[in-house]
Amino acid sequence: MSQDCIFCKIIDGELPSRSVYEDEDVFAFLDVNPLAEGHTLVVPKAHDPRVGGLPDDVAAAVFTAMSELTPAIERAVDADGMTVAVNDGEAAGQEVPHVHGHLVPRFEGDGVGPIHSLQWARPDLDDAALDDVAESIREAR
Ligand code: AMP
Ligand code: ZN
Repeated sequence: MSQDCIFCKIIDGELPSRSVYEDEDVFAFLDVNPLAEGHTLVVPKAHDPRVGGLPDDVAAAVFTAMSELTPAIERAVDADGMTVAVNDGEAAGQEVPHVHGHLVPRFEGDGVGPIHSLQWARPDLDDAALDDVAESIREAR
């Protein structure tokens, strides 16, 4: 538990939430400022700011919970799909530094588009540059 983390306080019951799921490692609750009806946050119970810090079993538990919740949320709000996303790190827009997966229900014709429709300044990478990036990632693991 991190003392000044709002999600730790929610998990602990110090702050209120509309919880929708709980198991040994994972807690899930409605986003207080939803992007769509049913917008849910799925969090590991143990405080960790970044995806890369999660132990394997916790990462698996978070994704398993997201997989279980997705069809349930779709049924509950009659959604046609789900955007499953994590803002990981301040540069990616993360505001609460406790890992959380966003489950945002999507509806035919909602006009939002895929995450590709964010205002990316796309890099111009040729095949050789893409090969280099892939190799760098493999080597950095
Ligand atoms: P992010 O920008 O990925 O860090 O998202 C943080 C999310 O947490 C936002 O969608 C907020 O609406 C949501 N949020 C912040 N405080 C609360 C809270 N007390 N209960 C539920 N959701 C919250
Ligand atoms: Zn926390």
